[in-house]
Amino acid sequence: MQAKGGIMAGLYKEEHHIFRESFRRFVDREVVPHIDSWEEKGIVSRVAWRAMGEAGFLCPWLPEEYGGSGADFLYSVIIAEELAKAGAVSLMAPLHSDIVAPYLAALGTEEQKRRWLPGAARGEIILAVAMTEPNTGSDLAAIRTRAEKDGDFWVINGQKTFISNGILADLVIVACRTGSPDSGAKGISLICVERGAPGFHRGRNLKKMGLHAQDTAELIFDECRVPAENLLGQLNRGFYHMMDHLQQERLMACIMAQAMAEAMLAMTIGYARGRTAFGQPIASFQHNAFKIVDMATEVTLGRTFLDRLVADHMAGKDIVTEVSMGKAWIAEMANRVAYQCVQLHGGYGYMEEYPISRFYRDVRPIPIFAGTTEIMKLIVAKRLQLI
Ligand SMILES: Cc1cc2nc3c(=O)[nH]c(=O)nc-3n(C[C@H](O)[C@H](O)[C@H](O)COP(=O)(O)OP(=O)(O)OC[C@H]3O[C@@H](n4cnc5c(N)ncnc54)[C@H](O)[C@@H]3O)c2cc1C
Repeated sequence: MQAKGGIMAGLYKEEHHIFRESFRRFVDREVVPHIDSWEEKGIVSRVAWRAMGEAGFLCPWLPEEYGGSGADFLYSVIIAEELAKAGAVSLMAPLHSDIVAPYLAALGTEEQKRRWLPGAARGEIILAVAMTEPNTGSDLAAIRTRAEKDGDFWVINGQKTFISNGILADLVIVACRTGSPDSGAKGISLICVERGAPGFHRGRNLKKMGLHAQDTAELIFDECRVPAENLLGQLNRGFYHMMDHLQQERLMACIMAQAMAEAMLAMTIGYARGRTAFGQPIASFQHNAFKIVDMATEVTLGRTFLDRLVADHMAGKDIVTEVSMGKAWIAEMANRVAYQCVQLHGGYGYMEEYPISRFYRDVRPIPIFAGTTEIMKLIVAKRLQLI
């Protein structure tokens, strides 16, 4: 279902197609055979992260001096799409490469960039970003995890939850309150906490409905001490730094959801053509054919919109309104598709041995993370000056 022409025809070059083929082979060899075992263990092996790094599949956009290859954003799109299509969204390389590393590259001092980015590109320093707390998620300005200055150190106290890569992470960008308790958005700073920092503890690797191989975890900061120079960006500007990065974060979520919708539709069309009932393929019952047509239409609409978002993002445009619309619509669309695809598989759709079952579970959190569907609509409503 992936559009070959249209807006992307002028952006994708021969080298992108070659890269896609080579990454697909890598995923078939290094990722797909291990997914079941990672799901059982609740975590992806570090070996896979290092293999991704060695092959140049982490942070490909970073300049060479920081360990990348200066690749354009389409390489990140390809990696996110191919992982999603392979049913491997639990390997959250796109979060590491295209959501967290950009904070370091954009806000880091030269010293911070040299210290962390090459290791991130090699897959030796796995990255996470910790905003959500047990008492606040959507209302980011209400976070309570506190960081106080003590000489040359920050002392952090508080708890974060639902943090992707939370167990594996070697470096976590933590949103902390550095202003007064009632300072809201104006009193938040970003502080980098490294594995081994005194007082930095991992909580539970949370048991989830899906994404079973993803180490979504609790993080606890108990008199956690990190050097003062681990402040990332400007003091008390953390909320605005996060807002600046949400366009790409939400675009990555759209890319993941769209690729999953395309994969689910393709596998379901194949299944529905081959499965017979009452002496005919189940796809040929008009009800099912029309259901598939409706899904194909929505998936094509999603692809067309997403391609425009990617092109506009690459052109440096402010697409916060459109990307918020896209995050809300594409994530919900992918879930509608997941529901109907399981239904078309009948009982087999509910069985682990059929990939649709994992896709159904794994696509569910996309309308929740990176800003819920409701928060996306709130942003659009504000931008349309409705509220
Ligand atoms: C798999 C997974 C991975 C995650 N990874 C990370 C991560 O790496 N880092 C991180 O910081 N966080 C992460 N999160 C957390 C995620 O960002 C939050 O769960 C999300 O922002 C929602 O916050 P909440 O869970 O506190 O829900 P709440 O904010 O309590 O919201 C509950 C419900 O109320 C709705 N709601 C809230 N406010 C409004 C409003 N004003 N108007 C209308 N409806 C509203 C919400 O849309 C939602 O439906 C992850 C979550 C999941 C499930």
